[in-house]
Amino acid sequence: MSGFPAPSPAEAAHLSGLVLEWFDRSQRVLPWRSEPTPYRVWVSEIMLQQTRVEAVKPYFARFVSRLPDVAALAAVDEDTLLSLWEGLGYYNRVRNMQKAAKTVMAQYGGRLPDTAAELSKLSGIGSYTAAAIASIAFGEAVPAVDGNVLRVLARLFGIEEDILSPRNKKAFTALDGRLLPPQRAGDFNQAMMELGALVCLPNGTPLCGECPFREDCRAYQEGSAAYLPVRAAKRKRRVEERTVLLITTPSGRFLVRRRPKKGLLAGMWEFIEYQGALTAEEAAAAAEGMGLSVEEIEPLPHATHLFTHIEWQLSGWLILCKEEVPVSGGVYLSMKEREGYAIPSAFRTYLAAAEEFSEKM
Ligand code: SF4
Repeated sequence: MSGFPAPSPAEAAHLSGLVLEWFDRSQRVLPWRSEPTPYRVWVSEIMLQQTRVEAVKPYFARFVSRLPDVAALAAVDEDTLLSLWEGLGYYNRVRNMQKAAKTVMAQYGGRLPDTAAELSKLSGIGSYTAAAIASIAFGEAVPAVDGNVLRVLARLFGIEEDILSPRNKKAFTALDGRLLPPQRAGDFNQAMMELGALVCLPNGTPLCGECPFREDCRAYQEGSAAYLPVRAAKRKRRVEERTVLLITTPSGRFLVRRRPKKGLLAGMWEFIEYQGALTAEEAAAAAEGMGLSVEEIEPLPHATHLFTHIEWQLSGWLILCKEEVPVSGGVYLSMKEREGYAIPSAFRTYLAAAEEFSEKM
């Protein structure tokens, strides 16, 4: 079947009743669920845009204990903010959160607005996040449709339309809105997402035997779950080779610098890094070009890092130099005292190598 169905109020009540009853029994205990203040829901939703629930938990705990409310988020300095986000990637998201927090302090008396329409005017809060916060924290009857919900709806109703097209996304959201019971909007939104995350799994492996929609599901009846949802082919990532130089001296400190203010990983700290795959001779020459005197050079493991549109193929060299020489824009940093210096997870392989090297010193 193609196109979008329009379930009657009775069908909608039947389906929402099934998923809510399942949610009441099966939902996971999550730190932001046990205390769903608007601020905590907001932080969790932004973190969950990029990372799985289990992985988010420790980041969430650290973030809200250091920055417990909008006022603290608005006031914190940028280096502390970025280091609290370290490991989560997509640093512009936390920068946007701080921008939004400053707006909330200046224009809303420090309280997040209570409707999706107002929330979505804030920096970094898109329609999904606005609906999630408004429904979960304030009980507003708005549908929140993420990738999990799109998958559940496409399979439940056997919808063979591309879920990535903005026009179809609107139609899916309207369909979800028909199912949403106004008196339990936040629970319904979480129930649909939770079902997608725990039962109606991606990549053709749903656990239909455990699903409350089994009797009603088109994909289950027609055996089409493996082909749904439909996604038009995504654009391929551009591949870039980069070389990371871990430049150190007998002091055990490593040379780091700030990335440019604009562009990929803007303003973050990094090890010295060049475009292209440098040979040992080229890497040593690059260090000598900065005025350093190279004593030893060793290869480091290769690594891959995926950004939304770019794939980095990384190689690296550990370069032991005679002594620390001032390098324009560079800082020699001990891996044990690097709090406040957020190094993005794109460099995690080399960060681990630097930490291992420091421990041996
Ligand atoms: Fe997904 Fe299977 Fe449930 Fe249908 S029955 S919604 S395919 S888990």
